[in-house]
Amino acid sequence: MNGPEIHVHVAPELGLFVPRSFRDGAWAPLAVDGVSTLGHVVESLGVPLTEVGALLVDGAEAAAAHIPAAGERVEVRAVTRPQEVPGAPLRFLLDVHLGTLARRMRLLGVDTAYEAVDIGDPALAARSAAERRVLLSRDRGLLRRRELWAGGYVYSDRPDDQLRDVLGRFAPELRPWTRCAACNGTLSEARKEDVADRLQGGTRAGYDVFAQCDRCARVYWRGAHHDRLETVVAAAMAEFGPSTSL
Ligand SMILES: [Zn+2]
Repeated sequence: MNGPEIHVHVAPELGLFVPRSFRDGAWAPLAVDGVSTLGHVVESLGVPLTEVGALLVDGAEAAAAHIPAAGERVEVRAVTRPQEVPGAPLRFLLDVHLGTLARRMRLLGVDTAYEAVDIGDPALAARSAAERRVLLSRDRGLLRRRELWAGGYVYSDRPDDQLRDVLGRFAPELRPWTRCAACNGTLSEARKEDVADRLQGGTRAGYDVFAQCDRCARVYWRGAHHDRLETVVAAAMAEFGPSTSL
């Protein structure tokens, strides 16, 4: 390619997306075509724009619509954490591969849409736009879709790390045990006698605190069955709950 040459520095956090010569915070030359926007150039390097914070050209912040010219020095920064997302309340949509993360986010009271059936990239992106949900995915192609309301790449394939990544990045308000882990419906307190026919004998005898999903009618109770989930909630609240931000 004989277009103008620029020099590009990609934030080390974004190194996984780009060719080797752009990793580890190195400045590397890049031939551009003199027509494409900075946003397009960054995407062509492999970085989803959902992951890009500030773009700097010769040290000054530039818009993604800027067209890089010969000799310019371009810095691609990662999103700042916590990341501001316009349009509260903060809501999420997770792709089909993130079921465990979805259940954990719901457990913490974060509004998280998720379908176990793959509805396809166009439908996911359209739903993100229609419902103003931040789409979370490990699929870079999905995150490049223009119709997204907002999106975020999930950097780990381990649910524990995924949860810490998302909570640290978006800092959603945590309200544990207010949302159904199965369907994302909201939970209301339920009286034992009203849900008794949905409980097994041992549960009926042993536990007294009940909640029921307003959407799917699933019954929740606090007790031994929740030990593992309590651990997930306690760890998340200790690190990301309200007391840490006071
Ligand atoms: Zn439910």
